[in-house]
Amino acid sequence: MRTSDDPDLLRWLFLDLNSYFASVEQQLDPSLRGRPIAVAPVMSDSTCAIAASYEAKAFGIKTGTPIWEAKEKCPDLIVVPARHDIYVRFHHRIVAAVKGVIGVTRVESVDEMGCLLPESKRTRAAALDLGRQVKRAILEAVGPCLRCSVGLAPNRFLAKVATELEKPDGLVAVGLGELPGPLLKLKLRDLPGIGANMERRLLRAGVGDMQSLWNLAPRAARRNWGGVTGDGFWYMLHGFDLPAKETQRRTIGHSRVLEPDLRLADKARLVARRLATKAAARLRRLDYVAGHLAVSARSESGQRYFGDFRLGATQDSAAILEALDSLWARHVTAWSPRRLKKVSVVLHDLTPLVDTTLDLFAVRRDPAPAPLGKVVQLVAAPRLGDTRRTLLSAKLDALNKRYGRDTVGFGVLSDKPGGGRELEYLGAKVAFTRIPDLAEFVE
Ligand SMILES: [Mg+2]
Repeated sequence: MRTSDDPDLLRWLFLDLNSYFASVEQQLDPSLRGRPIAVAPVMSDSTCAIAASYEAKAFGIKTGTPIWEAKEKCPDLIVVPARHDIYVRFHHRIVAAVKGVIGVTRVESVDEMGCLLPESKRTRAAALDLGRQVKRAILEAVGPCLRCSVGLAPNRFLAKVATELEKPDGLVAVGLGELPGPLLKLKLRDLPGIGANMERRLLRAGVGDMQSLWNLAPRAARRNWGGVTGDGFWYMLHGFDLPAKETQRRTIGHSRVLEPDLRLADKARLVARRLATKAAARLRRLDYVAGHLAVSARSESGQRYFGDFRLGATQDSAAILEALDSLWARHVTAWSPRRLKKVSVVLHDLTPLVDTTLDLFAVRRDPAPAPLGKVVQLVAAPRLGDTRRTLLSAKLDALNKRYGRDTVGFGVLSDKPGGGRELEYLGAKVAFTRIPDLAEFVE
């Protein structure tokens, strides 16, 4: 691993909406603006706040504060019943506003997302400017109550941590050259991946604050975390972004010369989908995201068809298959080829995902070590948008690994054991339309 020599090289922008549910309520009802409000799952004093406005936070009310206690702390508190469907709708509007400025690499939750910065925007000035643009876009397109904290850093972990440094309405860049300076004022529990259990474990090892966490050697970090997760955590904390493997791997691709019975364009498309699904599974296994998908086909008469699709950094099978279908329609079907002899599918512009909390802490990556408190939360919590689909893709990988190839899939061509191939849609077993609706989200 290596880091860049440029102390200002910022690769990630992370965005965290401030007091999200409460802000949405204040956006929708102007009479709530500037006032202490708490959002509660049910209208009962025995329940806990699931969000508090900044005005309520000033009274010491936060997520998890029992409503009876919140009312004691602030007699003027307004309690509002939660409306998750509306928060999800606002979520989509916010993601759309951000996408108008910069590609969203991964949606982390209903109020958090991470964006890999384009190479031209990685200096401090350019990154801060993008951060301001993103904030403005949300305020203008969604509403003036929707403030957010934006963090910029060499990796996504630190960018997320940087959003903790200034709230509300923060915009903080943490360059490699400044580390660990700005982090030292945080508590261990402020770091993603350090929950109550992990904190206790660290305390037992004599690590009680950020400075001593920073001073740990990678090997000691590994010991404390009980596995390779500690290594990953150490590297993320210290601002490393690229594993050595990135320089080695730039593409993942598959191609196939078609058997005569698969040469009609429609059947060839199913083969291409099968190849794309394989490539996507490989991408996830290697922990990369792909920026582009290229598809090429050659007809029996030697005619070539080629198309390239900008994916915007994904490892999600469904997104890749959608891209494939649109390329296929535009670059192959549109030319009405008679019979195709060969198809190829290549994922390129690959970026490793080591610098993501999801990958480090999700069970998929690292089933052996004892789970961290945070892990269970991350895995158990329903996820949204791209992230949820990626988790579904990962789940399919796990099922196929356990029960054999093509146990489940996205409506692709299956390779029958014994060599004979049959066209068959397997998608009905796990259909996208059957993913629980976003409104089922609970914080
Ligand atoms: Mg938030």
